[in-house]
Amino acid sequence: MRSALPILQSLERSESPSVFNRYPRSLMGSPAPPEIMSGESPEAVMLWAHSKFSRLALVASLQAESSVLIDMASRAGIGVRVITLDTGRLPQETHDMIDRVRDRYRISVDVIVPDAADVKQLVHEHGTNPFYRSPDLRRLCCEVRKSRPLAGALIGFDAWLTGVRRQQASTRSETQVVAEDLEHPGLTKVAPLAAWSKDQVWSYIHEHDVPYHSLYDRGYTSIGCAPCTRATSAGEDERAGRWWWENDEVKECGLHWTPDNRPLPIVHHE
Ligand code: SF4
Repeated sequence: MRSALPILQSLERSESPSVFNRYPRSLMGSPAPPEIMSGESPEAVMLWAHSKFSRLALVASLQAESSVLIDMASRAGIGVRVITLDTGRLPQETHDMIDRVRDRYRISVDVIVPDAADVKQLVHEHGTNPFYRSPDLRRLCCEVRKSRPLAGALIGFDAWLTGVRRQQASTRSETQVVAEDLEHPGLTKVAPLAAWSKDQVWSYIHEHDVPYHSLYDRGYTSIGCAPCTRATSAGEDERAGRWWWENDEVKECGLHWTPDNRPLPIVHHE
């Protein structure tokens, strides 16, 4: 019998609760200002982050929230590196969206791909669509195609912006506007839209004529990899179309969720 995949073993290790204790308290200082932590003004949060962190990335999934953040950064003249993850399984519409963002804002988008050797091993051991076979294999695929590439892409940055909102899912309900990123040592994670509703996101998009992912017009309410995302029906949760075949599993890939569902701690600054 074949031995367990090293990358699967490493995934299991990464889900150990000890991960929450491995970073020194010395990272902490005084808290971010209350008006920033409230998230009332995402633009103010972005300007604060830009002034606080000299090496700031915007990690874009190309969903509606990414569209808002990129537009806000552009209007505010915030120089930020835009990064996106090409898992190798994205729908064509996401690639089209990357080009639309490049054209509209005249910015470069850093497209990060997974390590070829990791993907080769994953496919060799588990086939091209392992995610349909078990939640563990789905999480392994996300680890190889998303989490590891993101960790590599964030090396050299001080902080990153994400479009995560509290209302997207119960797993995100405790999202802090500014938090110490326990998964990426020394980094701060900033969620300017944490306090915003879906209606606020779409009002901004329509008011400012912001380009948005075309799959929203085909009934999608959350967009990830092609084989793992479907359109949703009226009354379904926003993320019900993600890994829809799974029952009672957390609808998260690991980028914005900690294994024991503890909220990430608030970051402090000197
Ligand atoms: S969303 Fe699906 S295809 Fe994409 S990385 Fe996760 S399991 Fe793999």
